[in-house]
Amino acid sequence: MRVWSIPLRTRFRGITVREGVLIEGAAGWGEWSPFLEYDARVAQAWLRCAEEAAAGDWPAPVRDAIPVNVTVPAVGPERAHEIVAGSGCRTAKVKVAEPGQRLDDDLDRVAAVRAALGPDGKIRVDANGAWSVADATSALRRLDRAAGGLEYAEQPCATVEELAVVRRGVDVPIAADESIRRADDPYRVRHLEAADLAVLKVQPLGGVRACLRIAEDIGMPVVVSSALETSVGIAAGVALAAALPELPYACGLDTLRLLDGDVVADPLVTVDGMLPVRTPVVDPDRLGAVAAGLDRVAHWEARLAEVRSQGTTRKDGPS
Ligand SMILES: [Mg+2]
Repeated sequence: MRVWSIPLRTRFRGITVREGVLIEGAAGWGEWSPFLEYDARVAQAWLRCAEEAAAGDWPAPVRDAIPVNVTVPAVGPERAHEIVAGSGCRTAKVKVAEPGQRLDDDLDRVAAVRAALGPDGKIRVDANGAWSVADATSALRRLDRAAGGLEYAEQPCATVEELAVVRRGVDVPIAADESIRRADDPYRVRHLEAADLAVLKVQPLGGVRACLRIAEDIGMPVVVSSALETSVGIAAGVALAAALPELPYACGLDTLRLLDGDVVADPLVTVDGMLPVRTPVVDPDRLGAVAAGLDRVAHWEARLAEVRSQGTTRKDGPS
């Protein structure tokens, strides 16, 4: 295993450095990068994803390129227009409900994004769980009008129960993101009829095949997204998006640009809003350049040993 440490270009999830491990197996490398606060039980699903990748155990792709969305942070309208116009993407995900901002800021941003995309582009918003039910209901109605139609709204409120109430009060489709952290969660979202779509990430949910099973079981469309990974981790998300029988939504896999470094020479970045379906090759020099210090290597070795000591990894699939 090799431990890497890569600075983020901007602060995200309260962190400024992303850390993780590459694990080598019979077929190549897999990425294991559970966030630092996750305990061994949660991190176990992430390890199954890495082991599946290293074993080369991915299903065959049914497409050779994956449409992705451009992400627009909580910037002013001019900057938002610029980001979307320069992206080549036909779908934009616009951050809303940012602390310290007002709904008018979100309305202006969404209108600028519509102007940049033209009438046939798609706009989704992401509140990262920040609204109350009442705020979400009124904000989504107004944002839907300002956008000339929203594709969907990602995690308008924090809890699954709140999502279910908001969903009944608005016409905008609701997507569950933060509400899906572990393999049981998509089933709970479905049971409570809390969302129209599920955002799936391969590492937290235990790998590509596990996500394919979830997508089949829950009977609602899915959006494939990343967990802020290197090109090796993104490749697993790409493998899922490539293998899904239907892919009606652009994926949130264009996140490599958030990292100031990578472990491959030919990173998985978009061309004209599309990611190619391929497995990038780990480059020893680049991996060396982002190698973590000895104390962090010791930390990750101990963490991996703890997760492995919990017993079977790949055998226990999603419940
Ligand atoms: Mg989200």
